[in-house]
Amino acid sequence: VGIGETGLDFFYEHSPREAQETAFRAHIAASRETGLPLIVHTRDADEDTARILAEEMEKGAFPGLLHCFSSSRQLAEKAVDFGFYISLSGILTFKKAEELRETAEALPLDRLLVETDAPYLAPVPKRGKRNEPSFVVHTAAKLAEVKGVSAAELAEATTENFLKLFSRVPREAVYGA
Ligand SMILES: [Zn+2]
Repeated sequence: VGIGETGLDFFYEHSPREAQETAFRAHIAASRETGLPLIVHTRDADEDTARILAEEMEKGAFPGLLHCFSSSRQLAEKAVDFGFYISLSGILTFKKAEELRETAEALPLDRLLVETDAPYLAPVPKRGKRNEPSFVVHTAAKLAEVKGVSAAELAEATTENFLKLFSRVPREAVYGA
């Protein structure tokens, strides 16, 4: 239903930067060709991610999201301009993540998703535990608070966003027949 995750990680640098960029562009081409959304990972690589997305968008649009978002507001807004979605993890609930909450507050609700990134990044009050899908409710609750909407509204919005982006997933898979 999607392509990825892919992208750039200049924190771990498990592969040379040039090789990461080459693979990232190949995945972008696959997304453009198939219409499947690209799941983008970016860590300590905001500038290069923005540059590559912009260059590739010039060649033809492709759908996608920035997963486990923890980058700058500038990158988030650029991605939204490209038609991308932004997916928030348990980081949103961390005490020191004030800047990320401000970014989430500024972004349009119709472009936001929540995710676990399990087994990592369990949200408060489960922080430090092995993350699991059921914990995403805490991330969603924090996002609802940040956006000033009810938990039910937030759930509906993020579910609709998911279905719009992951267009191969049938509605029945989420809502039942
Ligand atoms: Zn990732």
